[in-house]
Amino acid sequence: GLPATLVDLLRVHVEARPAAEAIVEVGGERLTYLQLWQRAARVAGGLRAAGLRGGDRVAVRHPAGVNWALAFWGTVLAGGIVVAVNTRSTPPEIEYVLGDAGVTLDLAADSPLPDGDPFVADTLRGTDVVALFYTSGTTGKPKGVPTTHEAFVTSAENMVRALEVNQDIGPQLRTLISVPLFHVTACNAQFLVAAYVGGTAVILPVLDLAKLAETLAAEQISFLVSVPAVYALLLRHPRFAAADVSSVDIVAYGGAPIAPSLVQALRTAFPAATVLNGYGMTETAALMSALPDHDALDHADSVGYAVPSVDLGIIPIGADATVGELVVRGANVTAGYWNRPDATDTTIVDGWLRTGDVVRVDEAGRVHIVDRIKDIINRGGENVSSVEVEAVLLAAPGVADAAVLAVPDDVMGEKVGAVLVAADAPIDVDAVLDHCRTKLADFKIPQFVTVATEALPRNAGGKLLKNDLRRRVQWGAPLR
Ligand code: ATP
Ligand code: MG
Repeated sequence: GLPATLVDLLRVHVEARPAAEAIVEVGGERLTYLQLWQRAARVAGGLRAAGLRGGDRVAVRHPAGVNWALAFWGTVLAGGIVVAVNTRSTPPEIEYVLGDAGVTLDLAADSPLPDGDPFVADTLRGTDVVALFYTSGTTGKPKGVPTTHEAFVTSAENMVRALEVNQDIGPQLRTLISVPLFHVTACNAQFLVAAYVGGTAVILPVLDLAKLAETLAAEQISFLVSVPAVYALLLRHPRFAAADVSSVDIVAYGGAPIAPSLVQALRTAFPAATVLNGYGMTETAALMSALPDHDALDHADSVGYAVPSVDLGIIPIGADATVGELVVRGANVTAGYWNRPDATDTTIVDGWLRTGDVVRVDEAGRVHIVDRIKDIINRGGENVSSVEVEAVLLAAPGVADAAVLAVPDDVMGEKVGAVLVAADAPIDVDAVLDHCRTKLADFKIPQFVTVATEALPRNAGGKLLKNDLRRRVQWGAPLR
């Protein structure tokens, strides 16, 4: 059976392979499983000596690296609840999270880790909450998501099963963590998956693309995870062209829609690897569906099939029962938000969690994300997926980046607006619209186009912050 708690999950490898490498900080320290356990137990002892009791919240604010790992595992061994603070937030945003979570112990970025007599909680249960991760705040204020031991363990198992479709997974796994550990993707799909299989989590403290490229060979990375926005930059980086990528078996992406051309580029750039699109959310402790390598190119707009142990369902939004809001349930799904009974009531319905994502399920059972409910444009009764239009715009001549938003309209309710970023030369808007006409029905073609002079606003996960953009954008006159 699965380990009941994260403590059990880690202990397996501390006993079976104490000298194996557990954590590596690029440019910093390296810890074996035994060292990780012993030092985390001292952090746990220090936390207990400072007054921590079971279920107390501990803010983990260290930058990604060995200290983050020790703060995380120390809190877990102490029986506390890890509050994974987004260290890229502004001071008021961080204050909000510390207050919302009711943090009693704050492990600030520059403070030494607590130290005391080794302590390992022995009364933990799978149903105990062990972490509060905050949603990315893409559609509103970040919400705290209580996550249990069982949810994390289930999610790690789900991830391993998804990876096993294409590769042998075991202690030889070496994953490079370059996306923020305060989001579930890196924490779960990489950090905890490595601990689950007895492999190594190699952590890059800051996202430096040259360093990332060099680390692939230097640390013999086998499993890479990142977001489309980072891969797009990495593939263009001069240091990547010279990098030895032969150790990489799996290139996983997710968190946001990916352009099919980028999937192809990843396949070409990592010839020895299989690719995997992973779809998940904070509320599901990461993965809920995955698209395996053999479908990656032919169905690049799909996020694949439900992972084992997860049930997916649809609340139809029209006559077609295969299109609607995706709902999910399973042992990895949260029971409700922290401190947000209002959001819990509208999100958890009859034991199912509403994802806020509209999907279409094809005849083979593959899930395709149409759009977020909040981003779908209703143009005089016709639904337009902003994601679909963005994908077409990204393939248009001279377009480096694109965001599609609703433009309020007295007659139509909403019209389609596009914010474009030029690749290198000024954008020829007529050429872009001609391209759209060959790919999109007339009602989906943007009626407003503006060319941005700076990069589009994205959060740490590479997601477009459409609310920010909506507030900022000046549309001008309609094109037609
Ligand atoms: P908030 O809930 O605060 O508005 P958020 O939904 O972006 O922010 P996360 O939990 O980090 O917070 O992200 C989950 C969302 O990310 C999903 O609901 C989905 O919209 C999007 N997403 C995740 N993986 C993928 C993927 N592989 N392809 C497309 N979109 C994805
Ligand atoms: Mg969300």
